[in-house]
Amino acid sequence: MASTSSGQANDVKFEDIAEGDTVTTPTASMLQSILNISVHGDDVFSEDTTTNNLESFIVSLTGKPAACFVMSGTMGNQVSIRSHLTQPPHSIVMDSRCHIFNYEASGAAVLSQAQMITVKPANDKYLTLEEIKASIVDSDDIHYAPTRLICLENTINGVIIPKEEIKRISEFAKEKDIKLHLDGARLWNVVAAGGGDLKEIVSYFDSVSLCFSKGLGAPMGSIVVGEKDFIRRVRHFRKMVGGATRQIGIATAPARTAVEEVFLGGKLARTHELAKRLESSWIDLGGTLKFPCHTNMVWLDLESVGINEGDIPIEAKKAGLKWDYERIVVHHQICDDAIKKLEGVLERLVENARSRGGVQSFDVPKMARYSRRVDQDLA
Ligand SMILES: *Cc1c(COP(=O)(O)O)cnc(C)c1O
Repeated sequence: MASTSSGQANDVKFEDIAEGDTVTTPTASMLQSILNISVHGDDVFSEDTTTNNLESFIVSLTGKPAACFVMSGTMGNQVSIRSHLTQPPHSIVMDSRCHIFNYEASGAAVLSQAQMITVKPANDKYLTLEEIKASIVDSDDIHYAPTRLICLENTINGVIIPKEEIKRISEFAKEKDIKLHLDGARLWNVVAAGGGDLKEIVSYFDSVSLCFSKGLGAPMGSIVVGEKDFIRRVRHFRKMVGGATRQIGIATAPARTAVEEVFLGGKLARTHELAKRLESSWIDLGGTLKFPCHTNMVWLDLESVGINEGDIPIEAKKAGLKWDYERIVVHHQICDDAIKKLEGVLERLVENARSRGGVQSFDVPKMARYSRRVDQDLA
C-alpha cells in the first residue's frame, strides 16, 4: 500500500492523512535533483547556480522582477514585512485568522515594531475592501500608528479570495500609498483551483511569499518575490536573521522539482478533487462545513453532527490514520485507499455521535489549537 511498482516508496503515503500538508516528504526525484547538482556555490554571495536558477525560474513564473529564497514561510513573511516598513510608529492591517498574526511568534511586533490591526471578516471567508477601509489608520494625528502595510493570505483556511476583491484592495492601497503583501504559502492551490492566473494575482501585490514545502512537498523553503529594490532589502534582513546560507542548492534543487512536478505537473488538482469527495461524503452523513471547500482543505463543523473532537484521533488511529481535529488537509502523497479509510472513520464518528443521542458531550473545555492542558505540561 505504501509503495508503488516503480519502487518509489515515498511517492504514495498511507498514513498522515489529515495532519496537514506539512507532512509531505521529498519524492525520489526531489532527492535525485540534489545528486544532480554539479557545482555547489555559496549563496551568501549569490554564487550558487542552482539557487540563482530557482530564483529566475520563479521570476519568470510570477512576473515580478526579483526573487529571494528563504528558509521558511515565516521567514518570508517576516523579512517582507520588515523590508516594507521603515520608522515606527506604524501599523499593519490583516485578517484576524491569518498566519502572520497567530502563528509567527509575534514576529511583526518584535522585528518590525509594528502594531497589528486584526479584522475578523463578516462573511467568515475573506476580508473585503470595505472592512479594510474601516480598519486602516489614515491619519497623522500623533495618537495613532499610521497604516503602512496590508497583509492578505490566499488561500486562507483553504478559501480562495475572489480576484476582483484583491484588485479592489490593491487599487485602494496604491491610492493610499500603503504597501500590500500576500502570504501566498498556498497560492499554488488558488491557481490550481482556477482562482486566477499566477502572474495576474501576483501583480496586485508589492510582495508575495510562496511556500515550496507545504502542498508542493519540497523538504523546506519559501520564496519572496517583488521589485528589485525591495528584494535587495529582503536579502539584507534575511542575512540579519541568519537566513543567508552557503551551499543551499540542496534545498533549492528539490524546491524547483516540486514546482515542476507538483504544481506545473498538475498534482494539486487531484488533492482538490479528493477534498471535494470528502466534503460530499461528510454532507451525505448529515454534516456541514465551517468554511467552503475551494481547494485541499475540508473544515468539518463537528457540532453540526454532535461529534466530540476527542474521538477523532482515537477513531483515526484505529483505521491506521493520523488525524487530530476538525480540519482535514489532503496532500499529493495521499493514496485513494487512505481516503476510503477516512470515509469509514467519518462514518464511525457520526455513528458514535448518534448512539450518544447526537448530544454534545464535550467533557473538557474546548482548547485553542495550540494550547496545552496543564496535565500535559506536568507529564
Ligand atoms: C505554514 C504557513 C506559513 C509558515 O510557513 P513555515 O514554513 O511553517 O514557517 C505561513 N503562512 C501560511 C498561510 C502557512 O500555511
